[in-house]
Amino acid sequence: MTDFTPFPQLEIPETIAAGPGPGNTDARVLARYAGAGLADHMHADVLRGMVECKQMLRAVMGTQNTYTFGVAGTGWSGLDMMFSAVQPGDKVVMFVNGTFSGIDGLTVRMKAATAEELAANPLDPQAASVVIVDVPHGQSVTGELVEAALAEHTPKWAAMAHWETGSGRVNDIEGFSAACEKHGALGLVDAVSSLGVGDFRIDDYPGVHGWASCPQKGICCLPLTYAPVSFTDTYIDALKATGTRTFCHHPILEARHWGVIDGQDVEKGTYHRTHSAYAVSAFHEALRICLQQTIAQRASDYSFHEAALREAVQAMGCEVTSNMPSLVVLNLPDALAGREMELVQHCRAQNFGIWPTLSEPVQVRIGILNLLSEAAIADIVRRFAAALCELGGEVDQAQVDAVLQRHYGRAMAAE
Ligand SMILES: *Cc1c(COP(=O)(O)O)cnc(C)c1O
Repeated sequence: MTDFTPFPQLEIPETIAAGPGPGNTDARVLARYAGAGLADHMHADVLRGMVECKQMLRAVMGTQNTYTFGVAGTGWSGLDMMFSAVQPGDKVVMFVNGTFSGIDGLTVRMKAATAEELAANPLDPQAASVVIVDVPHGQSVTGELVEAALAEHTPKWAAMAHWETGSGRVNDIEGFSAACEKHGALGLVDAVSSLGVGDFRIDDYPGVHGWASCPQKGICCLPLTYAPVSFTDTYIDALKATGTRTFCHHPILEARHWGVIDGQDVEKGTYHRTHSAYAVSAFHEALRICLQQTIAQRASDYSFHEAALREAVQAMGCEVTSNMPSLVVLNLPDALAGREMELVQHCRAQNFGIWPTLSEPVQVRIGILNLLSEAAIADIVRRFAAALCELGGEVDQAQVDAVLQRHYGRAMAAE
């Protein structure tokens, strides 16, 4: 096979990423990615960049946890590291209300399964020590539900998604944290879709000891970079007591390269695995953007623009069932019910990247990650209305226009 002719250069068109994620990467981030001058992961400026990222990340996450850094890869990489402390036979209560917390539940069952349980069903183990509490699609995990389940089972670990992106639901993090504290459970939270979008400080939730997020959503740093994670000393002590069977996703070992050794910040990191100077530069810039804009301002911008998009699709006859500020999850008007996949494919064929739900029931998801302007929202609204019409639906354009006018007119008047 020495004469294999290479394919033509890969061309990927411009699209609007108007889904639940990935978000649209900022041009400043891409420029830093392409602008990094060398590839050596032990160069002094790369190590300095990693230490600066670690410090900026603490500010973005609102934490003093020393063990706060990035895991190379995607959201699941960070989650895999966070769940690495869960050992076979550990008692875990996991709250599931959509696709992503469902996969978190699978991860937990894989980690908590005994060798026999894993061998019996390697891809979907039924671990006797794990309780999965299912919450119907479209509903949030409430503090009362967490309280009742933890009171009944008193597990070592409790886990849920902060914001469940599959159904577009915000879960009760305050109630979750309080119940974990009360019942002595160590809380683990999938914050993949909330970090960089919502205004929260993880140190305000003392029942939660492990947090994992992703590069591609609220941090707007897809060019495969780092999944933010943060662990309390209590989590690290629990991990020290049991150990974990991973080198690469070992929280204590990975932290070394970010300049955290034996629980202390040190001036520069030591080798754990090869890091990309390009990824470090991009991540560094993304964190700078978050802090320059401020988490509070971003959160208020997301809520403001989500409200405009929500009202506009409601004016088209859609029913919105989500309550997440970066995402609208909706049912189509009755006349188009059942044609959700067709509509999504129709939009995607025009490089308008909206998404269906990935688990039942089939709904449409439209996201606004890094699309925080009147022009971007108006463009999404126009494209979505056109797609509904192209499928034979009817849109009262005057009413939709009135929503945007009222929303943005009022904003402009207020400025
Ligand atoms: C997107 C998402 C994930 C997965 O993140 P990847 O970057 O695709 O690995 C996990 N959990 C939640 C809540 C998500 O929204």
